[in-house]
Amino acid sequence: MPRTMQALVKKEAAPGIWMESVSIPEPGTNEVLIRVEKTAICGTDLHIFNWDEWSQRTIEPGLVIGHEFVGRIEKLGDGVVGYEIGDRVSAEGHVVCGHCRNCRAGKPHLCPNTEGIGVNRDGAFAEFIVVPSSNLWPIPDEIAPELAAFFDPFGNAAHSALQFDLVGEDVLITGAGPVGIIAAGICRHVGARHVVISDINEYRLQLARNMGASHTINVKHETIAGAVRGLGIEGFDIGLEMSGNPSAFNDMLRNMYHGGKVALLGLQPPGTGVDWDHVIFKGLQLHGIYGRRMYETWYKMTQMVLTGFPLGRAMTHHIPITEFQQGFELMASGQCGKVVCDWTGEV
Ligand code: NAD
Ligand code: ZN
Repeated sequence: MPRTMQALVKKEAAPGIWMESVSIPEPGTNEVLIRVEKTAICGTDLHIFNWDEWSQRTIEPGLVIGHEFVGRIEKLGDGVVGYEIGDRVSAEGHVVCGHCRNCRAGKPHLCPNTEGIGVNRDGAFAEFIVVPSSNLWPIPDEIAPELAAFFDPFGNAAHSALQFDLVGEDVLITGAGPVGIIAAGICRHVGARHVVISDINEYRLQLARNMGASHTINVKHETIAGAVRGLGIEGFDIGLEMSGNPSAFNDMLRNMYHGGKVALLGLQPPGTGVDWDHVIFKGLQLHGIYGRRMYETWYKMTQMVLTGFPLGRAMTHHIPITEFQQGFELMASGQCGKVVCDWTGEV
């Protein structure tokens, strides 16, 4: 086995990402070494690439980035049970403490001590990654590896959408980024009535339609209120805020039906104002969403794909990792859905 590997490293405290040769990590007790096959680029990776204000205060230069991946187990650390060398796996990107109140109550997605793979510890944009075996999620052979590569954001979409009983409900999703697009598909898959999604990007709205959205709104020249009138409804029962845009969020609140429920996934900028009248007088429920349930969301995602959920429609690019710069540029342009990178040389 070689001692070094290629990895995408945040080498300098400046915009950019660098393909470097680094040591292959050793799996410790209860950890496994995975040979990475496919990875996908997340908005978080783009923030780190751009070296924005959040990355500057969060990321230690020298870090291997990335957390959306699939691969095969190469080596088992001491004490690992339930897995074998060669198993195909993805992994939950949040490494939780295991001893806080929420972890012990079986709610590790609410662990306050969570560490992010590719954020606070070395990540998956590398030939190999070490993760705790408790974070692994086995991927059945029937699921294509390029789809398993982005189960992480699929999980954000599923965790947000499956918060609520969607059967027969009218859903508004603000933001047709990869997560919003997948969420639109899930709402359709589980039986919502109208699945309406907004964005300012026509390319992404088309992807959302392919995925199952029944109505799209380009807020550059249409309004959500117009869609409500057009559909002949009084407002939306369910809102999934997936843009991180304050005006989209407030527009959603304005167009919710009384008693509606809203999941907030998009990261709103500090100081975002909220028109509380809509929340209070309409008795809205707002629910913050972080990550995904461990591991019930992973289970639901796997079963949805195995029973025909068209996750592949959210993937628009599959490129060799040597073209990573182009991948990041695509993500920055917004003219893409999920961008998957291949590490095996087969693409
Ligand atoms: P993304 O940035 O690719 O998508 C956001 C979309 O919102 C873009 O397509 C953008 O054009 C659109 N948008 C911008 N202004 C809009 C407006 N006024 N109305 C409607 N749409 C508008 O992000 P993504 O990867 O799809 O993730 C969605 C959001 O969720 C992001 O804010 C991301 O940071 C956040 N996120 C949160 C978690 C979590 O655990 N809470 C996890 C993943 C992502
Ligand atoms: Zn914990």
